[in-house]
Amino acid sequence: MAPIELTRGDLTEQHVDAIVNAANSSLLGGGGVDGAIHRKGGPDILAACRTLRAGHYGKGLRTGQAVATTAGRLPARWVIHTVGPVWSSSEDRSSLLADCHRNSLAVAADLGAATVAFPAISTGVYRWPMEDAARIAVSTVREVDTSMFEVVRFVLFDQRAYEAFEAVL
Ligand code: ADP
Repeated sequence: MAPIELTRGDLTEQHVDAIVNAANSSLLGGGGVDGAIHRKGGPDILAACRTLRAGHYGKGLRTGQAVATTAGRLPARWVIHTVGPVWSSSEDRSSLLADCHRNSLAVAADLGAATVAFPAISTGVYRWPMEDAARIAVSTVREVDTSMFEVVRFVLFDQRAYEAFEAVL
């Protein structure tokens, strides 16, 4: 099993093979970490996303699915786009958040990525409570066969997120 690492910082600055983007279903950019990835990675990422939309992903990317593009000018080689579920207090969408992690790691393995970095998916605009998101993210990565990776890293943007993940780990 690959070690799970926690870092406080900016996902776009990670020198890893693949970073995971908390994208939206349009694949055409948004706010939060998605906005930062497109801003710093340059237009090649959006061009690759538009190509996906023109092909197999005509209706966009479904919640829980994952697909890779170039990382453009970012230090990573690939961006794996996944769509987290929007938090709901009336419906349990945990399995979709687990799918994001599972499917992103499957895409990373297919690419031959050795190092993978995740943000705290769904915890921003999609409002998932941080402690619960951390529990789902870490337990899902632990359940998957990660022996093909050197490291799986969570990059937490603020202290509160870092502490939530640290408590689970
Ligand atoms: P979602 O729509 O899935 O909630 P967001 O991008 O709004 O996605 O937020 C997901 C998490 O990413 C939040 O915890 C947010 O603080 C964090 N975040 C925002 N920008 C960055 C960044 N540059 N690097 C790492 N994490 C980030």
